[in-house]
Amino acid sequence: MHIMVTNDDGIHATGILALSQALGALGEVTVVAPDRERSAAGHSLTLHSPLRVFELRSGFYAVDGTPTDCVNMGIHSLLPFRPDLVVSGINHGPNLGDDITYSGTVAAAMEATLMGIPAIAVSLASHDPDGQFSAAASVALRVARLVMANGLPPDTFLNVNVPNCAPDRMGPPLITRQGKRSFVGNIVDKIDPRGRKYFWIGSEEPAFNDEQGTDFHAIHREHVSITPLHLDLTNYESMKILAGWPL
Ligand code: MN
Repeated sequence: MHIMVTNDDGIHATGILALSQALGALGEVTVVAPDRERSAAGHSLTLHSPLRVFELRSGFYAVDGTPTDCVNMGIHSLLPFRPDLVVSGINHGPNLGDDITYSGTVAAAMEATLMGIPAIAVSLASHDPDGQFSAAASVALRVARLVMANGLPPDTFLNVNVPNCAPDRMGPPLITRQGKRSFVGNIVDKIDPRGRKYFWIGSEEPAFNDEQGTDFHAIHREHVSITPLHLDLTNYESMKILAGWPL
């Protein structure tokens, strides 16, 4: 069994090392990841410049591109076999609610799904520098085993968020739906040393509606959250409403 591991925090991040080591129990792991942090790269693909690949050590490839570039490079060029599973993470920070549309971690799993390969995105839901990555890696291994044993529904991948706590305090995994962010507009503007204005987006932790059944609700209560995602963004309910328009 061959597993490809990627992330958006970059190949030198703590989370990808913990993940690749844990998944070694399940099969042969190849890491293809951005050469630097590309968090919030979303599903972007590099089309107008070349990509370079650096093999840092056996089975560890750094690409000077986005997480989506890495999945493409891994599957179409670097890996000798088509992987049986792609796992992205472990992201250092939550990927909950509407924020998943910004996430390079989630987009990498999305890209693998587009290629018909089972995929999981894993995030440690904390920015704590001493985050419990080994506990999150154990959860990732458990979920990966279940995916391999049971398969996934068509066009579906998993967004897994793990609370930052000791394994004995962690609640059992809950199957959740995507929550909703209560958006706080927060752009900081300051003056740089040359006297010019600069702007910085998103200085505060985002707030979420704490609704039962959501990813945020589960994480807030120290449960592992597993949200099955799919790529069809169609709002089916709205189709009925728009069908009534005099088009
Ligand atoms: Mn990240």
